[in-house]
Amino acid sequence: MFVRQQLVLKFSSLVNKLYYRTMKIRHFNALKDNYMYLITDDKTTECAVVDPAEPKELVETIKKEGLKLTTILTTHHHYDHAGGNNKMLELMGAEKGQIKVVGGDESLQGLTHPVEDNEKIQIGELEVTCLLTPCHTAGHVCYLVTDKQQQAVFTGDTLFIGGCGKFFEGSAAQMQSSLQKLAGLDPKTLVYCGHEYTKTNLEFAATVEPDNQDLKAKQASLKSVTIPSTIGDELKFNPFMRTNQKSVQAFTGKADPIECMGELRERKNKF
Ligand SMILES: [Zn+2]
Repeated sequence: MFVRQQLVLKFSSLVNKLYYRTMKIRHFNALKDNYMYLITDDKTTECAVVDPAEPKELVETIKKEGLKLTTILTTHHHYDHAGGNNKMLELMGAEKGQIKVVGGDESLQGLTHPVEDNEKIQIGELEVTCLLTPCHTAGHVCYLVTDKQQQAVFTGDTLFIGGCGKFFEGSAAQMQSSLQKLAGLDPKTLVYCGHEYTKTNLEFAATVEPDNQDLKAKQASLKSVTIPSTIGDELKFNPFMRTNQKSVQAFTGKADPIECMGELRERKNKF
């Protein structure tokens, strides 16, 4: 009996290794309210970081755990996201080109690997799909990372929990199509954004849709760290993901989703 149990255990751990989740995601705080991320493929110990603006703690963790950093994923060129790339490479003691610096903007600090929309890269056995999401910046990229069990999207300053980024280098039409691209992902996709802005975003959302019960429930359950969200949840309460809803259109007085997006942003800027 004992032997049989042991065999079953061994078999199930083998199945786990072969088929089940190997993606591990950890967040680190940077600057005032930025999030940096460490994504590890547990199976190969290869890892990537997202927007390492203040890389010291990330590097310490990677070295302490003996992980192999292969990739720096950069969402966009703003200093609080891309400004630590060279420091990260320096602290890792990496030779030139040894660690890929990925992004969608030629001006990105340390860039070695400019990507196109839907381009795929690997972190160990994790697959990363680069989603171009222009508007906050023209070369903004979101990264969809998946193992065989779950997927997560790193949204930088395009999609926040309950909100979206400012339109610094793009139009309302671009933000609408960028957010709709994210809206089309599996609703279970975990959302890891670039800043902790959730509380204020939801306060604004409550002025847009005061009767939204999902929004009320979300506000009631908020903790100090609000990541991750999911695409499915954002579709329920994030007004910028809901520009096709009558309630949001009524608030802005715009029935066209793109005009609704533009008006929402204007009002949020003044909020
Ligand atoms: Zn930014």
